[in-house]
Amino acid sequence: MLYIVLTTPICNLNCRYCGGTINGMPSEIKYKLDTLVKLIDKDPEAVVAFYGGEPLLEIDMIKKLLDILPAKHFVLNTNGFFLKDLNSYIHKFDTILLSIDGDKEITDFYRGKGCYQKVIEALDFLRYNSYKGEVIARMTVSKKSDIYRDVTHLLEFFPFVHWQLDAVWSSLWNLSEFSRWSEESYKPGIISLLDLWLENIREDKVLGIIPFVGIVSRILYNESGLPCGAGENAFAITTDGRVLACPIAPDFQWNNLGDLHSFSRVSNKIEPCIYCEVFDICGGRCLFAQRERLWGEEGFKAICDITKFLIKELDKHIDELRHLKNKIRYPPFNNTTEIIP
Ligand code: SF4
Ligand code: SF4
Repeated sequence: MLYIVLTTPICNLNCRYCGGTINGMPSEIKYKLDTLVKLIDKDPEAVVAFYGGEPLLEIDMIKKLLDILPAKHFVLNTNGFFLKDLNSYIHKFDTILLSIDGDKEITDFYRGKGCYQKVIEALDFLRYNSYKGEVIARMTVSKKSDIYRDVTHLLEFFPFVHWQLDAVWSSLWNLSEFSRWSEESYKPGIISLLDLWLENIREDKVLGIIPFVGIVSRILYNESGLPCGAGENAFAITTDGRVLACPIAPDFQWNNLGDLHSFSRVSNKIEPCIYCEVFDICGGRCLFAQRERLWGEEGFKAICDITKFLIKELDKHIDELRHLKNKIRYPPFNNTTEIIP
């Protein structure tokens, strides 16, 4: 299982689409670490991902947890500002996700001046120290994003790129702006990106565009379930030791599943997903969006439209991709990439 450990709800940034610090929990871990060790110790397949806020604001705690937690894999989600302070501890991570949204202009517009440069420096630090793990550009895609331009820019620096749509909980745009952008920018951009991906595949090179490899992998390996695993086989642990299904919504009652001693599970099998023709592949996409339809039913449908579009465009090429089954399998374990943007 995946255990997302929030080391602090505080963030040093205040991105336009996010709002920075999460409310409703202590600023640092308050539970007994031994309880977490015991929980992880019972699970031979445990993956521990550090998350925030900005998790590295609690860097001493992270080093301690890396030393004592008996997890099979470690993952870090970070904005990159304090990565160098980990020193040789970087090598304990199997996956590091760096938050970056595209080139300097778009990243600094969303995230704040200097953020792009910090990520590039963090990437240089990993290279200089011969880091062998997986490095992922973790994008948020919003109203000024051009999916083709931004992903191709990041592929120049990163072996893997993943994105999540800034939709439903967004304060940057509303449903009608999102729907227009989807038709005029996102869908044409996905087609161009898919053409580029297929051209490379014909030359025996699989570009690490995670939504593409992840969805094709789900089709080829008949994988089902919520891709992020929230509440099924992925749980977030707040700084006061509560267990949540999804790390981004600590206040919602449905999301609070218990504590480190005992917690329940939550199902993704609700309407309309259970009747949807792509449910096996999509898995309901996002538990939060399934439960909290902040853009109403129309908003839910608009995102489903994009999801179905992406799945169907990839599925058209599935026969051509079948021979790459072994090369395309993704993710190797739940590394916090939600596969469906
Ligand atoms: S496309 Fe929409 S309705 Fe279909 S499974 Fe995904 S989230 Fe549910
Ligand atoms: S995809 Fe949705 S439910 Fe899953 S972790 Fe992300 S926000 Fe939470």
